[in-house]
Amino acid sequence: MPKFEWALPPAPIPKEKIVQEQEADVIILGAGHAGTCAARSAAEAGASVIVVEQQKDVSQWILGIGEWGYMNSQWQKEQGVPEVDIDTFVKDWQLRTNNRSNVALIRRYARHCGSTFDWLIEPLSEAERRSIHPMMTPPSKHMPLAQDHLHSWTGTPHFSMDLMRKVMKENQQIAKEQGAQFLFETKALQLEKTNHRVYAVLCETANHTYIRLKAKKGILLSAGDYSKNRQMCEDLLTEMADLVDEGDFCGHGWNGDGIRMGVWAGGRLEPRSHAGMGGNYSFPGFDTIGSTATLRLNTHGQRYSNEGFGTHVLAAIPGAKQPNGLLWSLFDSNILAETTYQAACHASFDYTDSNRVQDLVNLMGRAQQHKGEMIFHTDVAGDVRPFACADTIEDLAATIYPQIEDQQHMIQAVARYDQLCALGKDEDFGKEAFLMHPIQKPPFYASGQYKDSHRPFGQSMKLLVTVSGLLTDAYQNVLDANFEPIPGLYASGNCCGGRFGLQYTTSIPGQSISMAQTLGRLAGIDMAKLVI
Ligand SMILES: Cc1cc2nc3c(=O)[nH]c(=O)nc-3n(C[C@H](O)[C@H](O)[C@H](O)COP(=O)(O)OP(=O)(O)OC[C@H]3O[C@@H](n4cnc5c(N)ncnc54)[C@H](O)[C@@H]3O)c2cc1C
Repeated sequence: MPKFEWALPPAPIPKEKIVQEQEADVIILGAGHAGTCAARSAAEAGASVIVVEQQKDVSQWILGIGEWGYMNSQWQKEQGVPEVDIDTFVKDWQLRTNNRSNVALIRRYARHCGSTFDWLIEPLSEAERRSIHPMMTPPSKHMPLAQDHLHSWTGTPHFSMDLMRKVMKENQQIAKEQGAQFLFETKALQLEKTNHRVYAVLCETANHTYIRLKAKKGILLSAGDYSKNRQMCEDLLTEMADLVDEGDFCGHGWNGDGIRMGVWAGGRLEPRSHAGMGGNYSFPGFDTIGSTATLRLNTHGQRYSNEGFGTHVLAAIPGAKQPNGLLWSLFDSNILAETTYQAACHASFDYTDSNRVQDLVNLMGRAQQHKGEMIFHTDVAGDVRPFACADTIEDLAATIYPQIEDQQHMIQAVARYDQLCALGKDEDFGKEAFLMHPIQKPPFYASGQYKDSHRPFGQSMKLLVTVSGLLTDAYQNVLDANFEPIPGLYASGNCCGGRFGLQYTTSIPGQSISMAQTLGRLAGIDMAKLVI
């Protein structure tokens, strides 16, 4: 169990400092994806609801780049997205999480996923609904349902960032119209218990006064992840901690307040090593060609992995264990066709998104004008990445590898790869035959990524959020040290464990958000329906 200071409960807030008390059936801590859905569903189910959110209402940052990994919604059906078989989906999930996920929770998510999406987009106009793009739809005929025994499905609804924020704020508005009270600029600090039951939360308001919010039915921890809490990251993301020599160990989400409050109240954490979105894998070309499984080489020009293993996060794990330097993805002028062989997964290249395709074409065009030089471009996260083009493999090697020895390794690696492609069997790393495409049609390209264990989350293995949390039962009721539910305490979104196992690897791009929203909605309903 955790040994760091973060796990030690703080001193209680003195009674005389608490200036106000309020009560509701359901108290929700954090109004992100999970909390907003819980607020609306609990209010719609007739519960009185108070939501505590630390950010300002007008400028609230809603996390995400807009990929919401849903399946089986009416909206997707209308876009021609094929239906997902729930049993196949859940078995795949158990496999990719090494059966560490809570199967009852995942089944509930899978069953209620589609209806949650349709419910969430109710406030949108027809034009706004049409502007959502179903990713990789229609799916390419080259995309197999299963790759290395792991499945993946297309059709993730992709929102613009503005529309994504609008949907969530509109859903908060619906919750308010149903009677939910939102306390913005208010920070949840500590839970209070009588006997075993969690019955209240103490919060700090914008003018630094303390209030007590009492819950008749339940308190939901939906305050997001802990990727900005360095101590928690070091303690809980042990695989990442072991891969990092030094440097910034933090991600882009939140401080872990929800999870900490749960631990202080006796909640049991998912065992370590925890899972993060990013942080312990590294793969070149993700910003240019997504998870397209072209030849990948390390900083010495050597091939090091099955580039198409399962879905991309798994394929990218060996990259984190390569010598520091530049990792390269090599491809030829058939690349646009080759992108259609990808599995649908976190960071896939959406070959049906004309903007994304045009970006790649433009980059290749720019590189063609600078043959024999490395050019640089900035990815969506603001990181600078190298790219190169040359008419021969020898020239490309000379462009991207300063050392003659490494150039020779690269030339040999390409020759060997082409030989294996002709053979139709990857004797070296076991990549599926349908993903073996020779590098033969000039000009040739290389897309690079810095892999540097001294700056792991700066340029190479960026941690976005953590996705492990408190163990719960199928109703997101938090468990105690003896795996028994703690009355009155619930966790959803990234406060909730038992979802991703050891690694954020999903069969549909964007399932962190769809899971937070769907399970948040269910938590709201479950708490509202509690008989007390
Ligand atoms: C840059 C980036 C891009 C991403 N893109 C995607 C994507 O496209 N698809 C996808 O599936 N996932 C994506 N993710 C991950 C995804 O955004 C998160 O996993 C998801 O937001 C988790 O939802 P949640 O409800 O648990 O928490 P959040 O949505 O993070 O909400 C937590 C809320 O709690 C509030 N809060 C925190 N502490 C307190 C406190 N003490 N008191 C009161 N309020 C508090 C916060 O202000 C916040 O509003 C991305 C993450 C990042 C960083």
